Amino acid sequence: MNNNNVLIIGAGVAGIEASLLLANAGRKVYLIEHTSYTGGNVIKFEEVFSNMECATCMLAPKQQELLAHDNIELLTLSEVSDVKGSLGDFTVKVEKKARYVDMQNCIGCNACFDPCPVSVKNEFEEGLSERKAIYIPCLGALPNVPAIDTENCLRFKGKDCQLCKESCMFEAIDFDQKDEELELKVGAIIVATGFSSFDPQKVARFGYGKFSGVYSAFEFERIFASNGPTVGEIKLKNGKPPKSVAIIHCVGREEKGYCSTICCMNSLKFVHYLKGKLSEVKIAEFYFDLCIPGKSYQKFYEKTKTMGVDIIRTQDIKVTNSNGTLKINYSTENQPSKTEYRDVDMVILSSAIEPNSDAEKLANVLGISQDEYGFFAEKHSEIASLDTEKDGIFIVGCAQNPKDIQDSVAQSQAAVGKILSLL
Ligand SMILES: Cc1cc2nc3c(=O)[nH]c(=O)nc-3n(C[C@H](O)[C@H](O)[C@H](O)COP(=O)(O)OP(=O)(O)OC[C@H]3O[C@@H](n4cnc5c(N)ncnc54)[C@H](O)[C@@H]3O)c2cc1C
Ligand code: SF4
Ligand code: SF4
Repeated sequence: MNNNNVLIIGAGVAGIEASLLLANAGRKVYLIEHTSYTGGNVIKFEEVFSNMECATCMLAPKQQELLAHDNIELLTLSEVSDVKGSLGDFTVKVEKKARYVDMQNCIGCNACFDPCPVSVKNEFEEGLSERKAIYIPCLGALPNVPAIDTENCLRFKGKDCQLCKESCMFEAIDFDQKDEELELKVGAIIVATGFSSFDPQKVARFGYGKFSGVYSAFEFERIFASNGPTVGEIKLKNGKPPKSVAIIHCVGREEKGYCSTICCMNSLKFVHYLKGKLSEVKIAEFYFDLCIPGKSYQKFYEKTKTMGVDIIRTQDIKVTNSNGTLKINYSTENQPSKTEYRDVDMVILSSAIEPNSDAEKLANVLGISQDEYGFFAEKHSEIASLDTEKDGIFIVGCAQNPKDIQDSVAQSQAAVGKILSLL
């Protein structure tokens, strides 16, 4: 049987691109996303290298188009639990969790958040702010409809709370919604589940989790974001803006054993972020090897070098704290045995990209392999980089290996072309 429908797992930039192209070509698309929103990691960024374009302006029109498209069925809070069959004839089981908010009735006014008595750390904001048990991850999230987090909601812990329901004038909150198991028939599957970030706490010498001025790259992205925890104001936990910042590349590269290809670029992007808002700030970038490929990235690097930043190649680096001042201890290529020092207020760690922690589970469900690092394995690294060993199942974006938005989107476009030619 040749079924033309396509299942896409992951509603990040790669999954969204593939969904829209297939849907516009007349195919029915089921887009499975395990969070309550679309956009993946890119919606955490205010701007993207190398043109410093506003990420929301780039992505939001595509997210809106996706939500309105007749050929796309977006299943949020959902995961694939079983896959049987082969190219042209897959049967897929999906576990869909209830949102407890009616997507049609809700107008996204957020009036239900304030009365909720529960506050927990907002994981989308890397724990830098709090959210309620009924929540959207950040302003501008799409769909702009909250979900109830049943692990923290008092009602789901047996208490008699319904304050959110009472505050909703649109009768959108529905505690009677149930989790569902759906069975879908599709001809091909695209895996676009993206990546996680290496936990810098695993490398003690960077002081992450120990010294309050040390931030991960994702934390800094959210601090810079106008819809983030500081409303875009670059400030330390003491409320003051940093006067000097060290940005450290390649955090976790040694441990993971591969180059994540985008961290040098996002480290350079941070110079633009910092100088754009704090023109006097002193910045030093510490790198081991620079990965700046391609025509636009070289240009970006050359421009960044003129912005008043020290770009230092280091052999060895450690962050210490003396009397509340962060100190970068490093040696350079020219004098590897001499330790040099630099005092800074803020350290930003550019962590490696790594596979999601549930990648093995999904690989087993799909019947595909992982490579030696845990990313989904391609059939052939040179000439079949988006095929898997299972015909009809394709891997795109950072689910295959670390890559930037441009390459993630290009790979999605290629997968769509293959599917349209096969089915
Ligand atoms: C700090 C930082 C800054 C960056 N800045 C830039 C930049 O400026 N420019 C640039 O080009 N690139 C940048 N990148 C790289 C960029 O983030 C990636 O290229 C891009 O996110 C890849 O998109 P994706 O769709 O493959 O994955 P993701 O963005 O990770 O999206 C994957 C989606 O799949 C969902 N998902 C995961 N597992 C499952 C599952 N089992 N079931 C259902 N859904 C699932 C996730 O919730 C998510 O929505 C940066 C990366 C980092 C770490
Ligand atoms: S559930 Fe009701 S109160 Fe909450 S955002 Fe939607 S419409 Fe507004
Ligand atoms: S039922 Fe109560 S605790 Fe649960 S989300 Fe609504 S207001 Fe919050």
